[in-house]
Amino acid sequence: MSDDLNFNSLFGDQELSMDCPECGKDVPYTLNDIGKAVVCPHCKTKINLEKDLNFDSTKNSIEKSLDDFEKTLDNFGE
Ligand SMILES: [Zn+2]
Repeated sequence: MSDDLNFNSLFGDQELSMDCPECGKDVPYTLNDIGKAVVCPHCKTKINLEKDLNFDSTKNSIEKSLDDFEKTLDNFGE
């Protein structure tokens, strides 16, 4: 069983966007950028993407269901 079925492999590259706090324009980012800093392509402002509790609990519940899903698949193959 490969272990590349996880939150980042499924959702990490998903493109999102937010409003730049400086210039108000769209700043693209991905879920992999959460917890890091991104630079606004318009005004070059550095924006820290705070990892909030909400994100962590969402991520944890997704990873748990993926884990359960993999166990189900493993059992199925017996
Ligand atoms: Zn900006």
